[in-house]
Amino acid sequence: MGNRNPSSETETGAAGNGASTPATAGAPNFLRDIIREDLKTNKHKGRVQTRFPPEPNGYLHIGHAKAICLDFGLADEFGGHTNLRFDDTNPEKEETEYVESIQEDVRWLGFEWENLYYASDYFDQLYEWALQLIRAGKAYVDDLTADQVREYRGTLTQPGKESPYRNRSVEENLDLFQRMRAGEFPDGTRTLRAKIDMASPNLNLRDPVMYRILHAAHHRTGSKWCIYPMYDYAHGQSDSIERVTHSMCTLEFADHRPLYEWFIRELGIFPSQQIEFDRLGLTYTILSKRKLLQLVRDHHVGGWNDPRMPTLSGIRRRGYTPEAIRNFVTAAGVSRTNGITELEMLEHFVREDLNRRSPRVMAVLRPLKVVIDNYPDGQVEEMEAVNNPEDSSAGTRKVPFSRVLYIEQEDFREVPPKGYYRLSPGREVRLRYGYFITCASVVKNEQGEVSEVHCTYDPATRGGNAPDGRKVKATIHWVSAAHAIEAEVRLYDKLFTKPDPNQVQEGQDFTANLNPNSLEVLRGCQLEPSLATAAVGSRFQFERLGYFCVDLDSAPGKLVFNRTVALKDTWAKVAGRG
Ligand code: ATP
Ligand code: MG
Repeated sequence: MGNRNPSSETETGAAGNGASTPATAGAPNFLRDIIREDLKTNKHKGRVQTRFPPEPNGYLHIGHAKAICLDFGLADEFGGHTNLRFDDTNPEKEETEYVESIQEDVRWLGFEWENLYYASDYFDQLYEWALQLIRAGKAYVDDLTADQVREYRGTLTQPGKESPYRNRSVEENLDLFQRMRAGEFPDGTRTLRAKIDMASPNLNLRDPVMYRILHAAHHRTGSKWCIYPMYDYAHGQSDSIERVTHSMCTLEFADHRPLYEWFIRELGIFPSQQIEFDRLGLTYTILSKRKLLQLVRDHHVGGWNDPRMPTLSGIRRRGYTPEAIRNFVTAAGVSRTNGITELEMLEHFVREDLNRRSPRVMAVLRPLKVVIDNYPDGQVEEMEAVNNPEDSSAGTRKVPFSRVLYIEQEDFREVPPKGYYRLSPGREVRLRYGYFITCASVVKNEQGEVSEVHCTYDPATRGGNAPDGRKVKATIHWVSAAHAIEAEVRLYDKLFTKPDPNQVQEGQDFTANLNPNSLEVLRGCQLEPSLATAAVGSRFQFERLGYFCVDLDSAPGKLVFNRTVALKDTWAKVAGRG
């Protein structure tokens, strides 16, 4: 697709034997090619085992959706399995709330895991392996402080310096490590480090820390442990324990791979293969849990599930569908270099999916009263309206028509500019599913604004056509004032004003780029009565306006709608141009 970085590459050669899958089939994908090749060479005896390994320190976002679609989608495609594994090695930042939301979000996207695991399930095994590495002279207890460890580490251009504690005896290391575990030492006073190479060009191999002392309660293991494995010590071995064949992760982990491989080699355990792909990046969007947490904590948004958030819970509440997200992720593709995808492309896939599935209704967001002077007072007609032109099985419904209607304020101009064909004095337009009406006069309020438009209708045009063949240039939507229901409608715009929200002046952070107009709340919107019973989460196209869904904040008699996305599709135009 047009927006990919030109350096995106795919491996060639593999073809054929994969079954097709709804989630990821079609687009070229070098990960799929690697799996196919491994199946061809029988590398794992036909097994494809993946995992999705979130850290439960925040809600999942659209970037995670890409990883989920790859991990689960590719395993499904080849008859494999996927575990959901919480990488919960960081007790201070992790919460059960996140564990629950992550499960809900994965299921919502349409995937089911084979097993639910936690890295903390493996704490005993990881500890045993640490003892094994100590006994083999491959790990040592270090007394340097965190600052000193950093200082001794060197830089990209300078080799590191060995710690004075590096050559402790195995006995002393075993004794100290066991006492670390027993809680004898305060936080930060000692670490267990892998004894690799302080001069390695890869900083991750300069005696990385394996364990730190942290007297903190863990969301699952409680106070059992006061030493915790580092992510880099836990991740590769967790994959190995689960016998993961293809461990897919984002590019920033490529430099860590030699370390994972070192642990696996030294321990002599199952060698999972890590393969890196590009992170999803989106214009006008922040995809970092730390920064998203900051937006929530500092009340820049209403919560993790604020419809302006790129979290899966936010976009779900906004009305995005899992199908749209899966289609978008597939179209955005995978590559071995990071790039940026346009937000408009995501919106394009949301519109495309909603167009297919959403019932059409009429709703007036900024009402202007229209009185049809020659329509009998008290008369009501039921007009037949098509529910979804994309889906004939969706049928039709009745919409009441009467003498007093509401139309959109912007569908009337007292002085029409050039090229404006909607209602204006003396002009005839079509009311959708109704009649032709002609504007006769206006009533103004004390401020001189038009408060009421008076029209006449032509009874011969019922259903929208004139028997004499005369044409009108505009069709507008409406609701019957006596029958309409009132609702609140929330309109969303981009959360940030810059394509790269991280682009700031010195001394500022990304919140300087927050869009002050990202939320507009409209009250007193007038909706056709069929919406009175709309359930929370249900989605509609408001004709001529966009796609909307019923928000969680709705209560009986007090409907609240979110605008999911407006109708205009700028990405399709951009893509078409290329
Ligand atoms: P963040 O930077 O948002 O905090 P993270 O990488 O720390 O994300 P994890 O919970 O560790 O979050 O991520 C779980 C999995 O999702 C990892 O395999 C990671 O590579 C992948 N992932 C995270 N962000 C993205 C992204 N933007 N695009 C694709 N995959 C992602
Ligand atoms: Mg992470």
